[in-house]
Amino acid sequence: MSEHRTTVGIDLGGTQLRVACVDAAGAVLALERERSDQHGSPQGLIDQMIRLIERVRSPGTNAIGCGIPGLIDRRKGVVLGIPAFAGWSGVPLGSILQARTGLPVQLENDANVAAIGEWRSGAGRGSVDVAYVTISTGIGAGIISDGRLVRGHGGLAGEIGHTHISDEASTCSCGNTGCFEAVAAGRALDRRVMSAVVGQPSSLLAGLVGDRTPGAEYLGIAASRGCPVALEILDTEAYWLGLGFTNLQHLYAPERIVMGGGVSALLPLMRERIDAIMRQRLLPGFTPAVIEVAALGDSAGVVGAAFLAREKP
Ligand SMILES: [Zn+2]
Repeated sequence: MSEHRTTVGIDLGGTQLRVACVDAAGAVLALERERSDQHGSPQGLIDQMIRLIERVRSPGTNAIGCGIPGLIDRRKGVVLGIPAFAGWSGVPLGSILQARTGLPVQLENDANVAAIGEWRSGAGRGSVDVAYVTISTGIGAGIISDGRLVRGHGGLAGEIGHTHISDEASTCSCGNTGCFEAVAAGRALDRRVMSAVVGQPSSLLAGLVGDRTPGAEYLGIAASRGCPVALEILDTEAYWLGLGFTNLQHLYAPERIVMGGGVSALLPLMRERIDAIMRQRLLPGFTPAVIEVAALGDSAGVVGAAFLAREKP
């Protein structure tokens, strides 16, 4: 009968709270989303979660999984801190949700739940060795190895964004320089577009941007129309991604690398170059992982959290 059971997945984001009821195959049966309670106080956000859980849950719902954009003590179900919201240090979210819904609750870091979602029902489906890498403002990752999520001590494994990769002086969000995130995340890409627009005002890229704020979203259009300035920026981005993915492959040997986040939309324009960098740098015996764009979009978090709820704590 367990295949008729549903679980609820919660994806708490800095701007949006998403809650879904998901079946055993990963199909989303009901989804609610709201702007995360503005003040982000634990009380306000927890009340909001409960309200959305009650809206989506079905009579067969038997567990809850929750992705948190911060640090957690998974075994105790306690949030240690959420950078986007104040006051979350030490909040026993697991037991609070459990007391108010009557359902067992598991917490997990947000990149890990998205990795589980893409692995179980998205672009990583069918493989037991998958690395999920989200490249948006920053870079996060969740690693599935031999069919299990790699959590590491304190649940901290997978911080590939802060591995040192470059001698460039660009400062990372973590305060160090030369991190993979500092040279390859959306913020670095935006910066390169900005300086190209200023330095090459007659380029097609600069023309497309016009009076608007320069951003990575113009790169795809300019590059597909052959703009050499845009192609060069993408070439640089593909170079850094190739290096970062080579590191990832030397560490975990994923069969597939699933790319999420805004920058993944540019993958088709960079895939060949990334693959070439990886072939050049991988040790003999390695084959470059197949790189796929994430398939679940914004739903990876709720679907992954719902699958997490099915796992034994
Ligand atoms: Zn860093």
